[in-house]
Amino acid sequence: MSSTCTKCPLHVGATNVCIGGRGKAQAPFLVVMDRPSIDEDVAGRMGSGRYYALMVEMLKEAGYAGSDVRLTFAVRCCPPKRSPEAEEIEACREYLISEVSQVRPRAIIAVGDVSLRALCHTSGVQSKRGLPAVIHEEFGLPELEVWPIYSPSMVFKTPNYRGVIVEDLRRIRNSFLEPEKIAWIEAPLFCCEHAARAWMEKQFND
Ligand code: SF4
Repeated sequence: MSSTCTKCPLHVGATNVCIGGRGKAQAPFLVVMDRPSIDEDVAGRMGSGRYYALMVEMLKEAGYAGSDVRLTFAVRCCPPKRSPEAEEIEACREYLISEVSQVRPRAIIAVGDVSLRALCHTSGVQSKRGLPAVIHEEFGLPELEVWPIYSPSMVFKTPNYRGVIVEDLRRIRNSFLEPEKIAWIEAPLFCCEHAARAWMEKQFND
């Protein structure tokens, strides 16, 4: 991590540059959020602001202990009232690669589309959640699974997303740490992708 990084334009408006992760140095799960909030930019460390607080709350509700997780950012400087651009995500990947190699997680949780793009060079959490995505070849860890989930920002717009995110988190945790807790649900045959997705949403929401 470099507090003097100038690899992309985001360093220009940031109060603090290249804000790193938080939690255990090594953990079974690395939770990758998109980028620092304004509060985190001012404080110079991860952990301030409502998105982080809600993420931690949901992790606890899903059964994660503090020793199970490390949290970090896909892009380490706070952008000025916009999402990070593709070039900025690319520029910052170097730090994420380094953190993944130090944390040595059993799985990565990609929180939202910016994180999914940084980790897997793809987007579309809506269609990809519930299954592991293939990690970008630059990480050099082809077997490491990346599990996309919705961003906590969705909960502030639509509170029902909270239950979906917690259930996704619970399934990811249990499939690695307590596979016996995964309930077997027999899925019917579907006539189209839309029907399949509607059925899946119902399982999470009931
Ligand atoms: S966002 Fe990442 S690559 Fe860009 S200046 Fe900040 S630390 Fe460097």
